[in-house]
Formats: sequence, structure tokens, C-alpha cells
Amino acid sequence: MIRVTENLAAVRLEVENVAEVAGRKASDLTVVAVSKRHGVDAIQAAFDAGQRDFGENFVDEALGKIDTLADQGIVWHYIGAIQSNKTRDIATNFDWVHTVDREKIARRLSRQRPASMPALNVCIQVNIDNEPQKAGIDAENLAELAAFIDALPGLQLRGLMCLPRPRDDEASQRAPFRALADLAKSLGRTLPSVDTLSMGMSGDMAAAIREGATILRIGTAIFGAREP
Ligand SMILES: *Cc1c(COP(=O)(O)O)cnc(C)c1O
Repeated sequence: MIRVTENLAAVRLEVENVAEVAGRKASDLTVVAVSKRHGVDAIQAAFDAGQRDFGENFVDEALGKIDTLADQGIVWHYIGAIQSNKTRDIATNFDWVHTVDREKIARRLSRQRPASMPALNVCIQVNIDNEPQKAGIDAENLAELAAFIDALPGLQLRGLMCLPRPRDDEASQRAPFRALADLAKSLGRTLPSVDTLSMGMSGDMAAAIREGATILRIGTAIFGAREP
């Protein structure tokens, strides 16, 4: 039995402590509880402890949970790889998407977002360490994609997301987060809707908070280890 309530309290305390040291307000940070491969019971336990934002990586797995937990006021974040044939499900069921990295996907999400819903909040995933196998756009092509998304009626461009390669110590963890923060800052000069940095997971949240994260995506530290 995973102690979700206790884990969540520990994560909140860590966010408050690091934010204070960094001279930031904890209220400027949103923890997204990443519930992939955990069941509805775990999500409900976190919800009962006050958690409102949840992140999912797999569309088919997420749809069942979203349906079961409907009408409670949960904010759903899609943080997984996006296949073209899943964009409609994403556009109609989620409030945020963190992993947009190409025009084709952005265009489909905008077109498929129901007119009755507010614009879908979008972060662009940046391949911040230039890893050949990893999703995300290269920094040099970012401005063009950002302008493209900004012009789409069904989407609201909110900011940037990254998933750096793992590093052991906080000083090295901070470098890619600082690079993402710099990219967001320069985008923000022409695109004022950019107010979000989605960065930091269970193993590097302190580094991300220090570099200006506004959304932390935390799985293991809240729900415990996942099945492999
Ligand atoms: C799984 C996942 C997380 C959460 O990772 P933890 O190390 O369990 O906190 C965050 N972001 C993305 C994109 C993920 O896939």
C-alpha cells in the first residue's frame, strides 16, 4: 500500500523549502501528479489530499481514468508521446498538452479542439540535450514552431517543457533547466502568453525550482515505483 497522502505532503514541503531558499513563492509552482500506470484509487487518494492536476502518458490508459473521475474538477495534463491518430482524443479530453514538437500535431490538435471548450493549453517540448533518439524540437527551430502555434485558434501557447538526460548532482541538473528558461524568456518577448516552464521530476525537482520551473511533473515521489 503506497502512502499517497504522506508522499504528497512530503513533496509539498520540499517545494516550499526549495522555493523559499530560491526566493520564490511556492504558490507560483504547480505540481502535476504523474499517475501513469497507477490506478484510479491512487488518483482518488491524491485528489482527496487536495491534489488537482494530474499527468498521463498513454492516451488509452488515460481515457478510462478521465471518464471514471469525471466532474470532480481534475485538471488533466497530457505528457506523453503524441501519435497523429490520438490527437482527437487528446484534444477532447485534456486541459493541457506538454509534448507538442511539430506543426502537423499542433494543427490537428487545434482543429479537433471542440469549440465549446477553452483553448487547449500547450507547451512545446524542446530536446534540450540534443539527444538523437529523444522527442522534442531543436532550439534553433523553436521560434518558428512557437509562432505557428500562437496563430492557431484552438491552442493557447503557454510555454516550454523538457526532459533532460538524467544527471546525478544538482549543479549539473540545473544546466539544461537554465537553458530552457533562457529560451522561454526570449520567446516571451514577442509572445506574451508564454508564462510556463514545465520541468523537473522526482529526481531533479529542486534543480528545476531553482531555475524557475512553474510546473513540476512528479510521479514516483507521490505514487511510488511503477511496474516496469
Ligand atoms: C513519467 C514522467 C514523469 C514523472 O517521472 P518521475 O520520475 O516518476 O517523477 C514526468 N514527466 C514525464 C514526461 C514522464 O514521462
